[in-house]
Amino acid sequence: MRNRFSAPGLATLALLLATACEAQYAGPPADLVVTNANVVTIDPANPRAGAVAVIGENIVAVGTDQAIQAYIGEATEVIDAGGRLLIPGFNDAHAHYGGLDPDYIDLRYITDKNVITERVRERVAQVRPGEMIRGGRWEHEMFTDREWPTKELLDGVAPNNPVSLTRADGHSTLVNSYVLRASGITRDTPDPPGGKIQKDPVTGEPTGIFKEAARSLLSYDAVQVERTPEEEEARRRQGWDAMLELTRSLGITSIQHPGGGSAETYQRMMDEGRLTVRVDVAGTLTDDPERLGRYDELRMQYPPDGNWIRFGYLKGFMDGTLGSGTAMFLEPYEDEPGTRGLPQMSYEELESRVLASDAMGFQIGIHAIGDEANRWILNAYQEAREVNGVRDSRHRSEHAQVLADADIPRFAELGVVASMQPTHCITDKRFAEKRIGLERSRGAYAWRRLLDTGARIAFGTDYAVEPLNPMEGLYAAVTRKDRMGEPGDGWFPDQKLSMEEAIELYTVGAAYAQFMEDRKGRIKEGYLADMVIVDRDLLTVPEDQIMPAQVDATIVGGKVVYRR
Ligand SMILES: [Zn+2]
Repeated sequence: MRNRFSAPGLATLALLLATACEAQYAGPPADLVVTNANVVTIDPANPRAGAVAVIGENIVAVGTDQAIQAYIGEATEVIDAGGRLLIPGFNDAHAHYGGLDPDYIDLRYITDKNVITERVRERVAQVRPGEMIRGGRWEHEMFTDREWPTKELLDGVAPNNPVSLTRADGHSTLVNSYVLRASGITRDTPDPPGGKIQKDPVTGEPTGIFKEAARSLLSYDAVQVERTPEEEEARRRQGWDAMLELTRSLGITSIQHPGGGSAETYQRMMDEGRLTVRVDVAGTLTDDPERLGRYDELRMQYPPDGNWIRFGYLKGFMDGTLGSGTAMFLEPYEDEPGTRGLPQMSYEELESRVLASDAMGFQIGIHAIGDEANRWILNAYQEAREVNGVRDSRHRSEHAQVLADADIPRFAELGVVASMQPTHCITDKRFAEKRIGLERSRGAYAWRRLLDTGARIAFGTDYAVEPLNPMEGLYAAVTRKDRMGEPGDGWFPDQKLSMEEAIELYTVGAAYAQFMEDRKGRIKEGYLADMVIVDRDLLTVPEDQIMPAQVDATIVGGKVVYRR
């Protein structure tokens, strides 16, 4: 209750303070002010606030509702957040981002293998013989029988079309017999280095599953779809617009490509005023001086001090995945004692590429899932410091999924960023113990153990391996429970994070991984005005209310780009 006569001393003091603040701010009015908000700033110097003022692309003041009033002028756009949560925009540090393909058969979360057959049958009816049929995101560990799918699911409904359906992790692919014929693959074809052609244990015939490098053996003999260049362009444009709209609606304001991403495509969208997410594109880790020279040119064109399109890091692959049984471990798999995974290059190659790229001042990020893969890349990064000298290189382990005890402190020691995806934990925990046993699982998705050693973590999704929605990642990080909200404390509950920590790793943690923590990822004066209004207080709602949370508004660079 307000009664200004009951405590005249305090009221006078407050009035004086407010006047003093107003008197101090004599600059131009803000372009945008968000008032009446529950601002979780992720700024340790000023963790909570009620309002934010923005001029141009930047935040100019963060304070109480009353203090920010001084920034409101006639032309200021004022958003009353109605007490809702305002946090920094999400920064996905690892997303295989791109325009959506309207014809892609999305098999995410299916549990019945016959759905694959049905969906392919529907698609075959829409295309001509010979046209390529693509899809994926299936996960055999979710099938009721937990068995790998085989070409027989496809052959009956697609005898005359090449079909390629990728596993959710993107590391294994199911194809039909049409593709086997087109590729000349038979029971006698040997596994290529770093790859595996799955064969039926009884008949010896290829099952249709190709893992890792074995996919490079595939050719599709596909009939080109006839589209005019205009139709092709319109299709591409629609796909990108759909993706950007999805991104805005999820509160994602920055994306970091793990390899790939076309700066040119983004530049065109930027020039047309369509780009609403900041992006880092990436190159491929190499020791070829000519390619490194080209990346250097691209880096000069899209330099690190930019805020929209930047050249990020050079990406390499050390191993495969836990789900495909191709991640590289120091000890054999529990459920497949004959294998320790599939290295995607020798240690000598790895070191040569790391040394050459590091010498030119590039940041490096290498996909490393198994404990041995992580050890190798840490060794190579350490070698780079010894040979090329210590600098603020922020090399990254992309995934850092399973770590040996001895390697956990090395992240902080070597300044290596763990680029992790919390949803992988709740997706993979279903089979992690079966594959690697309980003891090794203690080093799996070990966020808390890493943070305790002073390591830096950046959160992301690994989209399209996992959905792009950051709420799923926040849920995974704070619960370590499956998406159905299983009972209990979660998987290795001592590794759970608080909601504020999870948001921090998804904002300023991800910004650190791209050398932008000085200007992005906090709601703080001078920082880029990338902010999100969420429909509920993520910090206090029950666990089952986290994943359904909706973004009500997304602000990028001071512009409101999305309202629900
Ligand atoms: Zn990835």
